[in-house]
Amino acid sequence: MIATKQKPFEEILESLEGEKKIFIVGCGDCASLCHTGGEEEVWEMEEKLVVEGKEVVGTVVIDVACHTLKVRSVFNELKEQIKQADGLLILACGAGVQSATQVTDKTVHPGLDSLFLANIRRHGEFMERCSMCGQCILDITRGICPVTRCAKGLINGPCGGAKDGKCEVDSQRDCGWVQIYERLKERGELDRLRRYQAPKDFQRTVKPGSLILELPKKGIAK
Ligand code: SF4
Ligand code: SF4
Repeated sequence: MIATKQKPFEEILESLEGEKKIFIVGCGDCASLCHTGGEEEVWEMEEKLVVEGKEVVGTVVIDVACHTLKVRSVFNELKEQIKQADGLLILACGAGVQSATQVTDKTVHPGLDSLFLANIRRHGEFMERCSMCGQCILDITRGICPVTRCAKGLINGPCGGAKDGKCEVDSQRDCGWVQIYERLKERGELDRLRRYQAPKDFQRTVKPGSLILELPKKGIAK
């Protein structure tokens, strides 16, 4: 899932400047789990905007706001309400905001900041475990990502600065390479640490950039 946080309200108000009638869109998936753009947050945002003199002409929480076809169909159903709005405030990740941008001519405002691809540890607790580097080496490190967990993103580690298992860059943070070492030791695979990882092929790096992934169409094999 995508972890998000709400933008400061002043920032949201600033972006809505000059627009009186607002339609609010939430996301029933990641933003709901993060408590940044679910039913409750949409309702709270409506209240706050009304106090600031805005007119909220409608609200909706779309199941999955990054699903552009779904957003298109929901916007079609609500076209009369949306038509009245000067602008749309989207409480979803950047992908959700851009789904909306694709299917409406109205001005679209992001209400959230997208933070990272998150693992959910427990309700309300999220961890970043993958930075989506485009060349996964978890097989070599036996499931612990050095790109994300090492403060320097070293793919040939450790750097030698760790103390008592903590990172030299941030003493609150576990050294990712110590964790990899421990995992390999448990499995009797410490020899893997001797393998040199060639620098990543940055032609395969996806960020910054805009990729399109198309799955093969399902059909009857001939
Ligand atoms: S190496 Fe790390 S950052 Fe790259 S894809 Fe694998 S888990 Fe994600
Ligand atoms: S101490 Fe560990 S986590 Fe920190 S930069 Fe060095 S290898 Fe990476």
